[in-house]
Amino acid sequence: MTREGLEFRGAFIDGEYRDGIDTFTVENPSTGESIAEVADAGAQGVKDALDAAIHAQEEWMAIDPSERGKILRQVARAVESHVDTLAEISTREMGRPLGLSEALVSSTVGYLDYYAGMTDKIQGETIPIPGDSHAYTKKEPLGVSAQIIPWNAPLLLCFRGVAPALAAGNAVVAKPSSEAPLALLEIAEIATEAGLPDGLFNMVPGSGSTVGAALTDADRIDEVTFTGSSGTGKMVGKAAVENVIPMALELGGKSPAVVFDDADLEDAVDGAYQAMTATSGQVCFATTRVFVHEDVYDEFKERFVERVGAVSMGPAIEDPDMGPVISADALETIEEYVDEAIENGATALTGGRSRDGPGHFYEPTIIEGAADDDRISCEEVFGPVINLYEFADEKEAVRRANDTEFGLYATVWTNTLDRAHRVANDIESGSVMINRYLGSVPQTPFGGYKKSGLGREKGMQVIDHYTQLKTVNADLS
Ligand code: NDP
Repeated sequence: MTREGLEFRGAFIDGEYRDGIDTFTVENPSTGESIAEVADAGAQGVKDALDAAIHAQEEWMAIDPSERGKILRQVARAVESHVDTLAEISTREMGRPLGLSEALVSSTVGYLDYYAGMTDKIQGETIPIPGDSHAYTKKEPLGVSAQIIPWNAPLLLCFRGVAPALAAGNAVVAKPSSEAPLALLEIAEIATEAGLPDGLFNMVPGSGSTVGAALTDADRIDEVTFTGSSGTGKMVGKAAVENVIPMALELGGKSPAVVFDDADLEDAVDGAYQAMTATSGQVCFATTRVFVHEDVYDEFKERFVERVGAVSMGPAIEDPDMGPVISADALETIEEYVDEAIENGATALTGGRSRDGPGHFYEPTIIEGAADDDRISCEEVFGPVINLYEFADEKEAVRRANDTEFGLYATVWTNTLDRAHRVANDIESGSVMINRYLGSVPQTPFGGYKKSGLGREKGMQVIDHYTQLKTVNADLS
């Protein structure tokens, strides 16, 4: 559907696109051009979506669990057959290079398949208690899950929560980020056409302060999963406490990498390079602080600078190594952090500036000489910027790696087995990678220590989050 020359997308409620109370515009960050008008669902859209979800959840639970698994597998196959379309939409709205967008849509399919296999394995246990009794537990769905999605990996981050929520028997009302709602609206339609009951998976676009707040404040939601910044996460968490409902908060990071003198430097450089370039460093778990042992610091630095010097940057649809950042505001924030670090005495070994012309491009930037307590060392920059630091011994490296309010993800690079596991043990972080920098797989739990979040997503244990435990105790005497 088009309106005034721009593609138009409605809110997706109860199995159909609907107009909202207003519209907003989505921009292509590679060009700065407007690419679509989207309905702002408003508070009324949230109410309609909740009505639909509550009804659909009853219908969903009336379907046999293994049949529900089959439907989720059908959704996986339908998404799989739309990888190209979804990747292209995603690339245009949020600026991730096309090849990486394709890989992330495929990962989204992986989440659907993984959780589709669990619908008929959600079971309780019998509990031996004194007397002539039969006590057992059951895991029952919560009802309606509210999912608040950021822009930086919309499809994958949405299905990281939606797939287990649906598998556990819940309905979902999701709010996409206003910066990247298009691929999510498309996938909601694809999923419903593939067999999800109308209203089971609704998508209500609109700003966080209106639609997001209306959804998370609603007393008819039974769970909230929020992925985004720490500031917004705290507000969502307060609303969840008011409603006395479970929450999962997946927030920011300032992830360290520790590179020892016996590490495979080529691999360690590649890890830092992937963190900096993939989605232009706009990834919650991206390595942003690299601590390198003094004996190999110069060699690491030389190789990293050389690698980053060869990065191709351009419109994401042309599949360069690195695309733009999400918006003009984001670009300005990155400039402020880097300029301040340089004023404070740090050096930009590469980049250190934005690129002229259309779109929002910041050159990949390696910072050397920032103090551990400079803002650039402590806060999320959310751009292609990595700080290098030199260390002398293991204790110092661990202490400095842990010297952050975040604790989402860390990497350790060493070929000494006991040291690898000792450091993995000592680092305060929800995930630690040894000799690898790896993105998302559905099987392994993921979440933050410290201010990086609350609760865990992924893996089998997340089913506990999306269900409530009932104890039944029968007198058999
Ligand atoms: P934001 O916190 O700005 O927004 C996240 C979502 O929350 C958006 O959909 C936004 O809507 C919505 N929102 C904003 N205000 C409210 C409100 N008052 N009530 C309810 N919802 C609201 O984060 P970004 O989109 O900028 O995402 C980047 C952040 O996400 C980074 O901090 C990153 O580290 C984190 N992140 C964490 C991950 C993890 O797994 N730990 C994974 C990926 C990202 P709108 O923007 O439309 O106003």
